[in-house]
Amino acid sequence: MKMIYCKRCVLPNTKPGVKFNSDGICSACISVEIKHKTDWEKREKKLNEICDQVRGSNGNGYECIVPVSGGKDSTYQAYVMSKKYNLKVLCVNVVAHLQTYEGIHNLNSMVDKIDVDLIKINVRPSIHQKIRRYALYETGNPNYAEHRVVFAAVAKAALHYQAPLVVWGEDIATEFGGAVANSAKDGSAEDLINNDLFMNLDFDHFVEGRIDEGGLFFYNHPDKEEFINKKIKSIYLGYYHWWDGKKNYDLAKNYGFIPRRDGPLSGNAIDYDNIDEKLCEIHIWFKFLKYGFWRATDQCCYQIWNGRMSREEAVEIVLNEQYKFPHEFLDEFLDYHEITKNQFFELENKYRNPDIWHKKNGNWRLINEVQ
Ligand SMILES: [Zn+2]
Repeated sequence: MKMIYCKRCVLPNTKPGVKFNSDGICSACISVEIKHKTDWEKREKKLNEICDQVRGSNGNGYECIVPVSGGKDSTYQAYVMSKKYNLKVLCVNVVAHLQTYEGIHNLNSMVDKIDVDLIKINVRPSIHQKIRRYALYETGNPNYAEHRVVFAAVAKAALHYQAPLVVWGEDIATEFGGAVANSAKDGSAEDLINNDLFMNLDFDHFVEGRIDEGGLFFYNHPDKEEFINKKIKSIYLGYYHWWDGKKNYDLAKNYGFIPRRDGPLSGNAIDYDNIDEKLCEIHIWFKFLKYGFWRATDQCCYQIWNGRMSREEAVEIVLNEQYKFPHEFLDEFLDYHEITKNQFFELENKYRNPDIWHKKNGNWRLINEVQ
């Protein structure tokens, strides 16, 4: 497959789920056009109605669950749902196993400065490590384990606390040009468990016979039926509000959020995104090996979509940054998964897509670079 890049942003056609129109414009750019044409006042009204319905509906209990990671978007969501819409919010955090200073600080600041309740769910390392390791070896997608827990644990918390509303941030498929679930078209996040992050991997089959089922409570998503019976609604805030990570960051700063102290991580163009834990970065590096793009492209596209960067600037940044390996957390990544550096290099070779990579002067480079 030859890599072709969107003519308006710098997203390549190798991104799973992305579509290009006959003018060479990607579906994420088309989503931006749709955002500009959207009647946001009408959407806001709709969200107000949803909040009016749930406010006061659960006695002294929680009315809204907000999943939080310690990132800028979580702070924004917690702020909006508790202060703007005045709901009784319970934030739910699935604790990262390798947290950063900034991640811990930002989550604590959110609780302290926004003044919300938070529960943390910390799954046992013995099982989590195993699932991550299997996923790394078999799919090159170790964060599969995290995604499972976040979606399932948040859903279980909503059922447990009988909270009628679960508010997710953005629908990544709509915002970043992936395959959009039909149900997401009206703001519903009910099919989130089927989204891009799961790559059609059957979890039951994946863990069968090798992971103790008794340890999987927080990995197993409850039935959709249970949600319907208990009238729990799950939505994307990004459907009702113009979603812009940079604006969320600007708001979060007022509530104690700090960017990465040492500046952007290698391969990144910004210092305020994905800074709450240490295992994700190399997970995303594998995306680069498979699909030929990762952080710099994602971050520059985001700035283009939101009118803050020209395509020319983005091309320059991507070419400068994308080959920089995220060495910052490599040792901890290796330790966590109990693999050696050589085993890691073997994995890199296994997942580097030969259709899009070749060796140039002894270095691995993309055959078709963005220009
Ligand atoms: Zn585009």
